[in-house]
Amino acid sequence: NAKNIEPEATLEDLKIIQEIVSKCGNKTRIVPAPDNKIETEKIRDITPRPPAPPEAMQIRSPVVTVMGHVDHGKTTLLDTLRGSAVAAGEAGGITQHIGAFTVTLENGEKVTFLDTPGHAAFSAMRARGANVTDIIVLVVAAEDGVMAQTKEVIKLAQDAKVPIIVAINKIDKPEANIEKTKRDLMMMGLVPEDKGGDVQVIPISALKGTNLELLAEAVSTQATLMGLKADYTGLVEGVVVESKTDARRGKLSTAIVTRGILRKGSILVSGLAHAKVRGLFDHNGQPMSEAPPGTPVEILGWRELPFAGELILEVETEKKANMVLKWREHEAQKDKTENTLEDIRKKEEEHLAKYRAERETRRLAGRFRYRFGPRSKEYAEEDKTPRVSVIVKGDVHGSVEAILDVLETYNSNEQCRLDLVHYGVGNITEGDIELAKTFNAIIYAFSVDVPVKATKSVSIRPCNIIYRLIDDLKKEISSKLPTKDVEEKLGEASVLQQFFINEGRKEVPVAGCRCVKGILKKAQKFRLVRDGDVIYEGTLESMRHLKNEVDSIKKDVECGLRFKDINIIPQAGDTIICYATNAEPQLTDWDPGF
Ligand code: GDP
Repeated sequence: NAKNIEPEATLEDLKIIQEIVSKCGNKTRIVPAPDNKIETEKIRDITPRPPAPPEAMQIRSPVVTVMGHVDHGKTTLLDTLRGSAVAAGEAGGITQHIGAFTVTLENGEKVTFLDTPGHAAFSAMRARGANVTDIIVLVVAAEDGVMAQTKEVIKLAQDAKVPIIVAINKIDKPEANIEKTKRDLMMMGLVPEDKGGDVQVIPISALKGTNLELLAEAVSTQATLMGLKADYTGLVEGVVVESKTDARRGKLSTAIVTRGILRKGSILVSGLAHAKVRGLFDHNGQPMSEAPPGTPVEILGWRELPFAGELILEVETEKKANMVLKWREHEAQKDKTENTLEDIRKKEEEHLAKYRAERETRRLAGRFRYRFGPRSKEYAEEDKTPRVSVIVKGDVHGSVEAILDVLETYNSNEQCRLDLVHYGVGNITEGDIELAKTFNAIIYAFSVDVPVKATKSVSIRPCNIIYRLIDDLKKEISSKLPTKDVEEKLGEASVLQQFFINEGRKEVPVAGCRCVKGILKKAQKFRLVRDGDVIYEGTLESMRHLKNEVDSIKKDVECGLRFKDINIIPQAGDTIICYATNAEPQLTDWDPGF
């Protein structure tokens, strides 16, 4: 009957039960009830139990945090209180610093003080969602009155809805001004009882120990007013106040029990740490048999050290503790990865923001310097470097940005500059057209309307695909580049024979050749090659077929070729190449990456 199986039972538990049942010779099959959530081996976390009904609650002692402005006497107050907390019979003994201690009043009531002054600890605990402080004792030095940190504490207490008891300290000092301090407090909304308010204000001397019992009583009264109660039954709950590793005793933590009664042998889980309690000690280092709610206790037996402010929860079995830890570790790991991803995203965003800011500065600083204004126009006219000037208009900020990003990859050089005259989001305006005229710029209209009455003198190019725009721009840039000489081989001749002819009183060398490839053209350029080396490059003085001067020689036709330079003497076996150099347009080597 599934009803008799614990709701926390896992599939593994079911298996064990099945084994036991089977071993007893019982044929019953153990299956989870249909409405039971036990379908897989679930590793679950544990949380504090729901609050106990009011009738199950009993009175407990209050937990106090001492706060206040630096040097107003928090540490001194705690020292003196701690000293008074030394158990009778232990007088002269050394109080242990365990992070919290309990002061017992004459009437037997107890007040627990957290032994860490300052609001850092208080805030740290609150941040972990474990607020053990019931009452704040705000220490205000009577000579200084309310100071910056005093105000902070008041704010903090109000936010956390924790009542304040004010200890006006250093009243032994001649310059102490209790009345002024009270007035200061009233300005902050803390009205002392003797002024008609509800804030207990106790003048003390932490150093001399004056009125400290009055202060403790005030705390006790406040606690009674608050009706502080706790559930003394069931699994223990508590909060870690302090953790440390003791060279002799090992891992220790001080906790305030908030529910149940902590005893030896309890199994505790706190954050990612767990303990089987081997020993409990009070602030005098005395062993305790049990720690009820409101009691600070030093716990021995942690496998790992728990963190201050972390919740402590008791579990029934070691197995369950392990299960919970496994789950929490898994979750912590997941958090970590998520955090890392989040970190990366944040870094990327920061990087991008920085890059954008830098780019904007660069743009404004004049890498694209032909912007509005007559000065730039003059500059543009002075600089004779060929250039392509553009104006970019786009439908949305994103597309304009994207285009500008690509433009930025072009390195303006001596052969051609790329000048961004103007850019913006929106349709093409009269102003854009005027600007384009002034700077002889092309307007790229990216997914924006081109005005009907656009003038012929301005080139407006509509486009809606960035790479087409860039292709067009590349053509524009290429058209501004100087042409490049490209050689074209026209024909080739073999030198068969070397001879000389008389010209006037000079003998000049002539190459008797046959055209073996293509065509030889007299007006083109010739190259004399011997054994693979170029001997000469130049032009011809004469090209003859038989006795006639001709302009060209076709393949397999014999001819006499005479170079302009008469010092060049071709030999049989040389090769003469006829070639032309053609000026071809250059293409920009700008590669924007797509
Ligand atoms: P904290 O910074 O708030 O912890 O202040 P301390 O407890 O360290 O005190 C600062 C200084 O004020 C120390 O020199 C203390 O001796 C002195 N002091 C603290 N309480 C009293 C007091 O009641 N009377 C006098 N005269 N001096 C005090």
